[in-house]
Amino acid sequence: MRRTPVDLLIVGQGLAGSALAWQAAARGLCVHVIERPPVQGRRPSASSVGAGLITPITGARLALGWRFDEFRSATASFYERVAANTGTRCFTDRPALRWLSPAEEELWSQKCFKTPSLKPYLRAINPTGICRSSDPLQGPENIRPYEMPLAARVNLPLFLEVTRAWLEREQAFSFEEFAPQSAIWSATDAVWQVGGITARRIVLCTGYSPALLRIPFLAAKGELLEVSLPGQPSTHTWHHGAWATPQEEDLWLVGATYDPQHLDDQPTPEGRTELCTALEKLGVSRPQVISHQAAVRPAVPGQMPVIGWLKREDLVPSLPGHPPEATSAWGVINGLGSRGSLWAPLLADWLLDASTGARIPSEVDIHRFLASKPPVAKTPRGLAPQ
Ligand SMILES: Cc1cc2nc3c(=O)[nH]c(=O)nc-3n(C[C@H](O)[C@H](O)[C@H](O)COP(=O)(O)OP(=O)(O)OC[C@H]3O[C@@H](n4cnc5c(N)ncnc54)[C@H](O)[C@@H]3O)c2cc1C
Repeated sequence: MRRTPVDLLIVGQGLAGSALAWQAAARGLCVHVIERPPVQGRRPSASSVGAGLITPITGARLALGWRFDEFRSATASFYERVAANTGTRCFTDRPALRWLSPAEEELWSQKCFKTPSLKPYLRAINPTGICRSSDPLQGPENIRPYEMPLAARVNLPLFLEVTRAWLEREQAFSFEEFAPQSAIWSATDAVWQVGGITARRIVLCTGYSPALLRIPFLAAKGELLEVSLPGQPSTHTWHHGAWATPQEEDLWLVGATYDPQHLDDQPTPEGRTELCTALEKLGVSRPQVISHQAAVRPAVPGQMPVIGWLKREDLVPSLPGHPPEATSAWGVINGLGSRGSLWAPLLADWLLDASTGARIPSEVDIHRFLASKPPVAKTPRGLAPQ
């Protein structure tokens, strides 16, 4: 794949950077991806920790995700293509269960009365047969289970792994810490020079990176546990306050906390207690915890992602002026929050379309933030609104 100069230098091999690399290659573009070197073999990113759940109806307001069907269908086809290229399936159709209180049932029936097309996204199911008395997970009593048949899961660590292997085979990957001031514009060739790489455009897919990007982050740390639940049928993801989703064999992921105050990647005893308490409500009182991880979700105000092409000084603070002839040669995909798995592939496509003049939907256009100052995070600590 490697030609010189490359069409895109992608900074960050998380979900956003990986999705963009595949989408660009599918258009015949030549990419190079750089990722910061791990520290002592480890540097958790949101994508290496995140559970990858795709959930149509979320939060207390039982809201259907923005353009859900369009994103879901684009994401499913994207992972089909990745599977065809790598032989590895990272996407699984996996329905989810959610229990609704009487007030929530009332809210949902009102919503469906107003908008009947919502009904298939969350439908009441027969409580018998959901769980046997011998199963570790038990539904809460006296409230009804509903099913989201269109829920799914992306195995994010696996997706990062197969993407890295593909990029390395193509000699299109290197470990490097990107510093924006190190990018030198060569007017003669109309390319950016970054170390040994020359590129026509640079796209920052750097996740939560307030020192690098002039975006008003409203990020939140999330913690999750890997627990052993022997004998639990792995047909569904369970949502009831927290969520629990099956991995391989008897291992399940349980998450996730939501903490906008402590933006680091350290698992905490408080996070573990919070998740164990949530799991107790699903019938598991002393789970065998196999691992405990944390990372920061890159979110922005409004909980919508941001993409776009800009001048360097609009994207990165305190740098000298962008050469006038290099108009809008720096791109960004960020703000994936708790829905990156659903959003990343189509957003990457939209960004590439925009490089040839297509309009980015205003809801996700980075330009909505350019004049604003970072707001102060106000959300209290709690479980993620999945
Ligand atoms: C506990 C938890 C649970 C979650 N659960 C879900 C879920 O169920 N469903 C869902 O859709 N989403 C979930 N998410 C969110 C999801 O994981 C994120 O939206 C997504 O992974 C963000 O991807 P990203 O590529 O934007 O950022 P990141 O994953 O943070 O990737 C950014 C990459 O850029 C690299 N980088 C940064 N700066 C530089 C630099 N200067 N030079 C070189 N490289 C750099 C970083 O090392 C990193 O690898 C969860 C997140 C957490 C923490």
